[in-house]
Amino acid sequence: MALIVQKYGGSSVGNVERIKRVAKNISNTRSQGNQMVVVVSAVADTTDELISLAKQINPKPSSREMDMLLATGEQVSIALLAMALEAINVPVISFTGPQVGIITDNVHTKARIKQINTEKIEGELAKDKVVIVAGFQGKTIDDEITTLGRGGSDTTAVALAAALKADLCEIYTDVEGVFTTDPRIVPKASKLDRITYDEMLELATLGAKVLHPRSVELAKLYDVKLCVRSSFVNKEGTFVVKNQLIEKDLVVTGLAYDLNVAKIGVFDVPDEPGIASKIFDGLAVANINVDMIVQSAMRNNINDIAFTVPKDDLDKALQIVEEIGKEIGASEITHADDLAKVSIVGAGMISSPGVAAKMFHILAENNINIEMISTSEIKVSCIIKSNEVEKAIQALHDGFELDKINS
Ligand code: ASP
Ligand code: MG
Repeated sequence: MALIVQKYGGSSVGNVERIKRVAKNISNTRSQGNQMVVVVSAVADTTDELISLAKQINPKPSSREMDMLLATGEQVSIALLAMALEAINVPVISFTGPQVGIITDNVHTKARIKQINTEKIEGELAKDKVVIVAGFQGKTIDDEITTLGRGGSDTTAVALAAALKADLCEIYTDVEGVFTTDPRIVPKASKLDRITYDEMLELATLGAKVLHPRSVELAKLYDVKLCVRSSFVNKEGTFVVKNQLIEKDLVVTGLAYDLNVAKIGVFDVPDEPGIASKIFDGLAVANINVDMIVQSAMRNNINDIAFTVPKDDLDKALQIVEEIGKEIGASEITHADDLAKVSIVGAGMISSPGVAAKMFHILAENNINIEMISTSEIKVSCIIKSNEVEKAIQALHDGFELDKINS
């Protein structure tokens, strides 16, 4: 008997018909002799609607109350899915994250899972029930309700799979798997049969929405067998694995883009120890994720520093940087938010020189200006103007011949 964790995203439970179809799918997998734990997201658009409702009432709600509100979305869908299973005589019980012992830190709206107490779930599995768990939520040790960040249900599923030592974690979504890039921009994008944890982690972090980055991190850390597949068509999806097949000589596996990018520039600060630390400590304390950082080549002991943050954190970041800017004598603080990040990712890059050069060449040929660059062993990212993203992704997909990836 295998233990399978399945996760269904918001669109998979988007209406009554779909909820019934998901129930059937669960029932089928169960009748093949599997134990099942099922994680569900809020019904499609619910979370967005709750956020917009909140903002109409208070443009800057506290993150504690935001979590209190957002956690309700998933509570609706677990109950509905449990009812759909009851209706077809499958023994089932649903639980919220806090109920089932998903313990997180206290960073509201982007909490991290610290620990999962599995006894309750195991007890119900032993009674032969399907256990449905609300994704995206947990509680602190002080019983405060938290959420895990947008898309966080994936992380609930993988964390549960790891804690329960499940044999497989299946992420059911509205696409057939992980694609070389967003098929809405590049219709020729191909579905990947396999992708490594490292590549998937880069893609997810760089803006591919298919999996929550933290879920991939956990899958890699705990060796969770992970698969992304469609809840609408019965086709094998994409397996996220440790190592790519060696005979597949891929240099670039996928492209990602992220429109959630804003840039802050800090001009004319002294070139002395502690300046960068002051700026970035301030941002870290406020839990703002800084992504790319560029420091200009120093002249006359004066430096410029530029960096990117998520757009939603721009206001908060500017406030902090303006304060610190005064303290360190910056002459000017600038910002821009009409930017995007395009990235190429591939485990094969480690052993093939010239990949970055080829990317820059393709962008140049298309008259796309690069504002910032960053690289790791398996990725190259460029900041460009957001209105050039589609052109850039198209050109890179063609240039790296990603449509031929499965042939
Ligand atoms: N409902 C949450 C969101 O929309 C979590 C999830 O769907 O994974 O972000
Ligand atoms: Mg998702």
